[in-house]
Amino acid sequence: MNPRNGTYRVLIVGGGIAGLAAAIALSRRGDDVVVAELNTDWSVAGWGLSLTGPALRALDTLGLADVCAENGFGVSTVTNGDSAGETTGTIDMPRLLGPDRPAQAGLSRAVLHRILREEALARDVVLRTGVTVDRLVQSGDAVDVLLSDGSRRSADLVVGADGIRSRTRDLLGIPHELQYTGQMVWRAIVPRPSWATTLCTFAGPVHSGGLIPISRTQAYAFLTEDGVPPAPLPDDELANRMRELMSGFTGRVVAVREAITDPETVVRRPVQTCLVDGPWHRGRTVLIGDAAHAPSPQLVSGAALAIEDAVVLAEELHDGDDVEIALTAFGKRRLERSRLVVGASVRVAELVRDGHHAEAHQLQQRCHQALAEPA
Ligand SMILES: Cc1cc2nc3c(=O)[nH]c(=O)nc-3n(C[C@H](O)[C@H](O)[C@H](O)COP(=O)(O)OP(=O)(O)OC[C@H]3O[C@@H](n4cnc5c(N)ncnc54)[C@H](O)[C@@H]3O)c2cc1C
Repeated sequence: MNPRNGTYRVLIVGGGIAGLAAAIALSRRGDDVVVAELNTDWSVAGWGLSLTGPALRALDTLGLADVCAENGFGVSTVTNGDSAGETTGTIDMPRLLGPDRPAQAGLSRAVLHRILREEALARDVVLRTGVTVDRLVQSGDAVDVLLSDGSRRSADLVVGADGIRSRTRDLLGIPHELQYTGQMVWRAIVPRPSWATTLCTFAGPVHSGGLIPISRTQAYAFLTEDGVPPAPLPDDELANRMRELMSGFTGRVVAVREAITDPETVVRRPVQTCLVDGPWHRGRTVLIGDAAHAPSPQLVSGAALAIEDAVVLAEELHDGDDVEIALTAFGKRRLERSRLVVGASVRVAELVRDGHHAEAHQLQQRCHQALAEPA
């Protein structure tokens, strides 16, 4: 049952996009929220992120869509191009927040995290760093939590928002499988060329890529590299390697390639996916975000799913008075949508790998149309 006049003591494990969004959504409803983040500070790698329409819509529920778009760069059109960056087709993206607001926004990941963190703090969320959860024991209507600093606390709800390698998921013994698509995704922040006012994709002779504006002055270049083992590269080789991978691009893409020089703004990550195909909760501990479902970045929808999870979780918890019924209802609302996105993202990755770019764009578009439906 609902313990204290409709408000809960909540411990969120992980202060990424899902964890901070959940902290905001729950604290807006009066819950008493603590976030335990493993990293010892709040720095995030210097790369860009695209917030799609569903992500902006979910952020709007938290009152944050406009501040994100204003601190980033709104785009409403996809411009597909060839290896010289010459346009081969355009797609208008649905504007889920109405005709006067952009369909999606690109922004720096660090800026998004800062916006979320500031909003959480303004709502009296307690943000703790350098700490994780070591043990979770369901005890009656509460969860007894042992934190890695040796302290204990009792929570009415624990939210595992600790990413694709979730420790919370392991502590709960929830089965899952990480799948590697055989691809690496690359991101690099570059000065924004004046022509980059839309989400631009480039179908290269070997690798596909693109460019997304994240502010008036910056954009991020992205690239997918196929058929590589998931081994790391030294940081000081990243910029050179990304330029090498873009050597088949010509025309106006050359200037983008040549601007990739600062290794601190280049990121290379293996494309891994994961879907927990069953209940996402045990007792009063629930998984959200990448801990429950991690699509490949090619579908640019991981953040949307994570923020939607936060909003839907808060709705379900506060629409009823039984936590476990609410968590079951939450999982039912989220599983099929997540399955669609993770499945489509794997297929898009395969199509890109096999050079079927037009088919990949069509599938991406169908998936984004499905996600335009309310969460
Ligand atoms: C290269 C790349 C590019 C991407 N681009 C996009 C994009 O443009 N648009 C988009 O929508 N999605 C994108 N994604 C996906 C998106 O980043 C993820 O879906 C999203 O970050 C998931 O948020 P999360 O909070 O669930 O997980 P994370 O962002 O992974 O956050 C998890 C948090 O938990 C913390 N943590 C981990 N373990 C513990 C622990 N044991 N205890 C406490 N804290 C812990 C971590 O430090 C982190 O702060 C991209 C992914 C990659 C890899």
